[in-house]
Amino acid sequence: MEKTIILKFTKQTWRKPIIYGLSKNFDLVFNILEAKVLPRQEAYAIMSLEGPDEEYYKGIEYLKECNVIVEEVPEQIQRDEDSCTHCGTCTAVCPTDALFVDGDEKWVRLDTEKCVACGNCVQVCTVQCISLFVI
Ligand code: SF4
Ligand code: SF4
Repeated sequence: MEKTIILKFTKQTWRKPIIYGLSKNFDLVFNILEAKVLPRQEAYAIMSLEGPDEEYYKGIEYLKECNVIVEEVPEQIQRDEDSCTHCGTCTAVCPTDALFVDGDEKWVRLDTEKCVACGNCVQVCTVQCISLFVI
């Protein structure tokens, strides 16, 4: 089994070698695709995780026992371009820079190729113009 997952760490857990434990304690291979520490010191890691099914689920349980929030990536986002006010709030919480401020006019753009559907922008959008939908 191989899946792309998002790990969400608290200020207290993100410095610990928790991800390393996936390969040390289980028959799993991980590849970190993106990692970022946000302004409030929470951290995100997006990674692929691969191994035998049983080991995969043990690894997920291990992460949860370490107080890491684990989410799979089954969704995509869509944005109502007409409603977006380009306030920029969402760019501060996007772990992959899929939402970014573009050019001198400061338009907020969305690069769907970089989006991992973590949902952070949905929660903070000031006019609720972003939504998640299942692929
Ligand atoms: S869901 Fe929003 S915050 Fe998360 S990666 Fe996609 S654009 Fe960025
Ligand atoms: S938070 Fe919402 S309104 Fe503000 S730039 Fe992002 S998508 Fe647009």
